[in-house]
Amino acid sequence: PQLINQIAAGEVVERPASVIKELVENSLDAGSSRIEVDIEQGGAKLIRVRDNGAGIHSDDLALALSRHATSKIASLAELERVSSMGFRGEALPSIASVSRLTIATRTEGQSTGWSITGDGGDQVTAPEPSAHPQGTTIEVRDLFYNTPARRKFMRAEKTEFSHIETQLKRLALSRFDVSFTLTHNRKEVFTLPLAEQPLEQERRLSGLLGSSFVEQVLHLDREQAGLSLRGWIAKPVFSRSQADMQYFYVNGRMIRDKLVSHAVRQAFQDVLFHGRHPAFVLYLDLDPMQVDVNVHPAKHEVRFRDSRMVHGFIYRTLHHVLAETRP
Ligand code: ADP
Ligand code: MG
Repeated sequence: PQLINQIAAGEVVERPASVIKELVENSLDAGSSRIEVDIEQGGAKLIRVRDNGAGIHSDDLALALSRHATSKIASLAELERVSSMGFRGEALPSIASVSRLTIATRTEGQSTGWSITGDGGDQVTAPEPSAHPQGTTIEVRDLFYNTPARRKFMRAEKTEFSHIETQLKRLALSRFDVSFTLTHNRKEVFTLPLAEQPLEQERRLSGLLGSSFVEQVLHLDREQAGLSLRGWIAKPVFSRSQADMQYFYVNGRMIRDKLVSHAVRQAFQDVLFHGRHPAFVLYLDLDPMQVDVNVHPAKHEVRFRDSRMVHGFIYRTLHHVLAETRP
């Protein structure tokens, strides 16, 4: 089973930033309102994610490290309408198979915390009592220590850390109702307080994307036939090359999708006569039955049931908002 986990890890755990994605998504699924991420040496030495979510009951603790043990879906029918970020139950066992992983946790109902350690996944210790507030802390040390070929693929500390930062930004832009903290080598990189009011949300946007984005931004919010598109796009005068300021979320999950990019670019093109480097943070929400997120283990891709309708809706909405600002 260890080999299978390491092979699965090849798909899910490409680099430290992929560990961040999986751990933070788990914290979000657990209903946390506060998530703290501590990194040492670009994640090569330590990745620690601490949350104040539901915690894991001691009876389920060892199970969390075994393959395909997800607490999130019970049937194929549920897979069709999945709303949690995770559902495959392979992230934790995969990460554990290529690192030294410790979970410390406490649920609301339990009077004491519990912890377990999986060393390269081979040995999972029996849960032992361990002081912990309600919530979960997962520590991943020495990533890829037992898979030298993958360890060699890790880039310089700075590079790996910048991937982590990008990843956490994406997640932080998906949930304004959660606070996030990031530290690297014990220095604070950012703290994002809860941001439920529009002004607070713009402060978070500005903190993550720069104040110039917020100054030029257009807000949009449109609903039609079960589809909703909300968010911000940069005003036409916004001219810096912003290839990296493109955030598109489908039902809360950041994705990269050709159909979506095309619809956005086309709207900019048709109104502004150029579609290069549009900057945007957009949230599309639709019935989970209308979209398949189970296309790729890392879930960057989606498949829409009615892709023409989705394309048309995005195109028309952006076209409308952009056209209103045309001088
Ligand atoms: P998945 O997210 O696909 O269910 P994972 O391997 O990521 O699978 O996690 C396995 C299980 O461990 C989850 O289903 C969940 O029950 C539990 N778990 C993991 N992280 C947390 C967390 N931070 N808080 C509460 N439960 C967690
Ligand atoms: Mg998960």
